[in-house]
Order: sequence, then structure tokens, then C-alpha cells
Amino acid sequence: MMMTKNIEDVVIQCGQLLMQSSAVDSKENKEAVQIAAESLKFCGLEMKRLDADQQTVIQSICFLDSEEADPSNAMEFRYSEDHGGSAVYRVYPKVGQEKWSERTVKWLGIFMMQLHEANSRQNLVEDAQYYRYHDPLTKHTNLLYYSERCDLYIKNGTICDYTAIAVDLDDFTQLNLRIGSDNCDLVLTRFLDWLKDGLTDNEIVSRISGDRSALLVLKEHEDMILEKLKHSEIRYGENPNEKVNLSAEAGIYHLSEDVESHHNIIQAISSTLNTAKGSMHLQFAYYDRASAEELERKKFYESAFEQALINEDIHVFFQPKVSLKDYELIGAEALSRWIVDGKMVPPDSFIPILEETNRICELDFYVLEHVCQCIQSWIRHGVKPVKVSVNFSRRHLSDKNLVSEVIRILDKYEVPHEYIEMELTETTIDADFEALKRVVHDLRGCGIESSVDDFGMGYSSLSLIRDVPFKVLKIDKSFLGDKNAESEERQRSMMKHVISMANDMGMECIAEGVESMEHVQLLKENKCYMAQGFLFNKPIPQEEFEDILSQQLK
Ligand code: C2E
Ligand code: MG
Ligand code: MG
Repeated sequence: MMMTKNIEDVVIQCGQLLMQSSAVDSKENKEAVQIAAESLKFCGLEMKRLDADQQTVIQSICFLDSEEADPSNAMEFRYSEDHGGSAVYRVYPKVGQEKWSERTVKWLGIFMMQLHEANSRQNLVEDAQYYRYHDPLTKHTNLLYYSERCDLYIKNGTICDYTAIAVDLDDFTQLNLRIGSDNCDLVLTRFLDWLKDGLTDNEIVSRISGDRSALLVLKEHEDMILEKLKHSEIRYGENPNEKVNLSAEAGIYHLSEDVESHHNIIQAISSTLNTAKGSMHLQFAYYDRASAEELERKKFYESAFEQALINEDIHVFFQPKVSLKDYELIGAEALSRWIVDGKMVPPDSFIPILEETNRICELDFYVLEHVCQCIQSWIRHGVKPVKVSVNFSRRHLSDKNLVSEVIRILDKYEVPHEYIEMELTETTIDADFEALKRVVHDLRGCGIESSVDDFGMGYSSLSLIRDVPFKVLKIDKSFLGDKNAESEERQRSMMKHVISMANDMGMECIAEGVESMEHVQLLKENKCYMAQGFLFNKPIPQEEFEDILSQQLK
């Protein structure tokens, strides 16, 4: 027979204990309830959880030997819950037991209330723990769970056994309209259940957002999953026609040991999924490291550009232009160099990227402004400037204010217009051609000459030099040398005629990419007396160019 303590004392102590347990610490809560249960045992009472479901929690305290408990005289304590249900607690006295005093009943009430609060706190904490890793709608795991699992598998070296897949259901918005959002929620849940079906516990199906989910499946299960993504029939009601046919697009990444973190995985599958979504005929896209790195590079330059301008990480280099008659400095071309982490990045790595988004225009104005500052400073220091040419992208052609903006910058630094030349490349687009004509014409009207850059490289059209009032023709370096002897002959013959035509039309002609005395000889023979190339100088930093400039004038 168990030693019975005074029930009232125990109940008071337990009530106080529960009251003190912290509201948020699940461990402390659990311990307090445990101690209360243990203490009750000393009175011959047992605390049992009889039933628990979503709506109701029933907890009872009865005698250890339930035969002795008297259900007919049970006391009931009922508390309403936040979610609308109620929690019911019962205390079963012992059969034939002397009636508890009013004070004991009162303390039992207080104890039960404390017990209920401890239970609610416990539920809350358990809910919080559950929803940290689960999606409330589908009850499938969420992005955090997915991320932590990826990191775990990376750490324990098993990640290479898996394929990561980002999934996006086709036409889900339409489906919402057709069958309603409640049914759609059910469809989504069942679809994810269906994907999870047949996978092991270590494999993951997580809902990321909307109808997007992320999967981590063993490589041997990839085909099974892709089949399901091609076509799945999902029921959302009892009625035979309450079903939908689903298909989904996917971004797939065959993981290898060198993945570094869940960030790489999630980013890779998301962008690969976007590739599939952006394509008319591709349901599944596979992650390819090389193209992804290219995309990364692009994103880097796009996002770092603004700050690079502010920090002046983009430097303006100058490549001298020389006269082939006396080898004197006659001008320079301004060329951009981006310094990233102390390393110099040539323009070919970032100009095409900036051109895609029109940000190239900001760069060109930045370079122009920098060049104007230099010229102003040279003039102020008594150094006679040379003409500096600045590359202006074709992207400017749609800018109606281009010419006025150029003039504004020149005038801001009081730069005489003859010291600036605009290098523009050829265009094959008719609309651009008209704009090019207007821009070059208007610039000339303001005393600023323009040159056709890289002439002969693209699909050069003779109407370009006939109809657009360019002052200078920059002959592309490809005219000078080509390892293929047969085409070299033709190139050189073309060069000869291009130079002669330019001379006849009163244009100046300058050759780019002059690397040898043989090139110089060839140019002179063909009456081209201006050159730019590594034979004389590579593009050099401003200070170095300024040294050359001031020595030249001594
Ligand atoms: P570009 O305007 O035709 O500039 C000449 C390019 O040829 C420069 O390359 C220069 O370094 C290179 N070069 C000069 N001499 C030689 C030589 O003897 N041999 C060889 N192999 N190459 C030579 P860079 O600086 O890499 O510039 C490449 C292109 O990037 C430029 O071609 C230009 O189209 C563009 N670019 C550079 N800076 C800017 C800019 O600020 N704005 C715009 N819109 N484009 C720019
Ligand atoms: Mg150029
Ligand atoms: Mg060029």
C-alpha cells in the first residue's frame, strides 16, 4: 500500500511548481509536469493523459489502482482553448472516499488550471518546433529543413548520392481559378504526398513557396520522380470527376562532392528551374556548372557596377595614337579597366554584360567625364592636350539627349570640343543607322568629330561611310594580320582600298592593333599614317600617359 501524503499539500506544491515553470522553455515545462505527476503518486494519485486530439486535451487524475477510482463522482475542469476547442480535465476520487474539503477542491482547481497552462505552453512550444521545419498548409517540410538537411549531407559526405530538384507546377494559377483555392491546396498537398511516396526517410520533399518545392532524392529515384513530374493524376474529392492531371517543370542538379553549401544547391536549382520556365519547349533543365558560373559572373558585374563607379574602381586607361610620319604622339583612346579585388579586368569581360542592360551608357559618360577632368587639368598645368577618343556604345543611339549631355559634360570642364572624339561602332540595324546619322551629324555641328570603330570587323557597309559624316575611320586590327595566308592576301587588298577610299573622301584613317614594323611598313605603303597598337604602347594608366604627354611637349 502506497504511503499517502496530504493531498492538499501536494496539490498546492505542484500548483506552485507549475506556475513557476518558464512559459517558453519546453524542457522546464515538461520537467515541472513530470515532477507534479511524481508528487501526486505520493498521494496514491496518478496523472494520465487519456486522450488528445486537435480540439480537446483530456487529462485525468485518478487513483493508481483505477479499480478504486470512482468515475461517477469525477470532478471536471474545463478550459477553453485559443483555437476554439476546450480542454477537459477530470479528477476521479477513490470509491467511498471521504469527501474532499472545499479548500482541497479549490486547490485542485488551481492545480488543474496550472496543469492546463503548462500543457498549453507545451503544445505551443511543440507547435513552434514543428512549424520551424514544416509548412503549415501541406505539413510537408520547409526550406529551412531542406537547407539544414543539405548541409548535413554535405558534412557527412553523402550529398553525392543525391539529385536536387526544384519543381514548379504547370498552370497552377489557372487551376486555382478552375477548382478553387481550397481544392488547390488539397491537390498540392496530395501531389507532394505522391512525390514523397516511395522515397526513403532521408529523401526530402519540401514546399518552398506557392507551388514551388525542392526535392532531394537518391540518384536511383530520379527517374521515378521525373516520371511523376511528367504526369500525375491527383484526386481532391470522392466524385470521379474531382481529379486533376498535373505536370511540373523542374530544375535538376546532379550533386557532387564539391558542393559547398545549401546556398549553392538552392541557387543552382532555382536558376535552372527558371531556365526551364523561360523556355517554350523544355520541361526539365539540367544544371550545368560552366553556364552557371557564367551567369554568376554576369550577376556579379551587374550588381557590383553601381558601387564600382562610386568607388572609382573602374579606371580609365589611355592608349597613345601615333603619327607614322614622325612617330609623335597625336592622340589617345580612353579604355576602361575594372579593378576587382586588386586584379585588373579587361573590358571584354564586362562591356558585353553592361551592354545587355544599357548600363554601358553610364560607363561611357563616366569615362567621358573622367577624360574631360584630365584635359581640364592638363590645360590648367600648361600641358597642351591631345585629342582623346572615347568609346560610345550603340546603346546611346536611342537617347534623344545624347548630344546635349555630351556637350554639357565638355562645357562643365571647359574642354574645347576639338579635344574629344567619339568612337562609335558600325550598326546593321536600320533604325540605329538613322539615329547614328543624326548623332554624328549633330556632334559635328557642335565641333565634335566621330570615328567608325573596328571598321571591317562586322558587316561593314559602304553606305555607313557614305551617309554618316564620320571624320575618322579606324581600321580593325584583323586587316593587318591573319595566320591564314589566303585570306591575309584578300584582307590586305581590302585594306589598301579602304584606306584609299577614306583618303579620297577626306576622312582620316587610323589603324588599330599595330604590333610590328612590318605592319607599319604596310600601312605606310598604303598611305595610312596614323596608328595605335602594342608596338608603341599598350593602354596605360593615366599617370603614365601624362608622363608621355608632358615629355612629348618638352
Ligand atoms: P576598341 O575600342 O577597338 O579598343 C581597342 C582594343 O584593342 C583595346 O582593347 C586595346 O587594348 C586593343 N589593342 C590595342 N592595340 C592592340 C594591339 O596592338 N594588338 C592587340 N591584339 N590589341 C590591341 P581593350 O582595351 O581590351 O578594349 C576592348 C574593347 O572594349 C574596345 O575595343 C571597346 O570596344 C570596348 N571598350 C573599352 N572601354 C570602353 C568604354 O569605356 N566604353 C565602351 N562603350 N566600350 C569600351
Ligand atoms: Mg575604340
Ligand atoms: Mg577598335
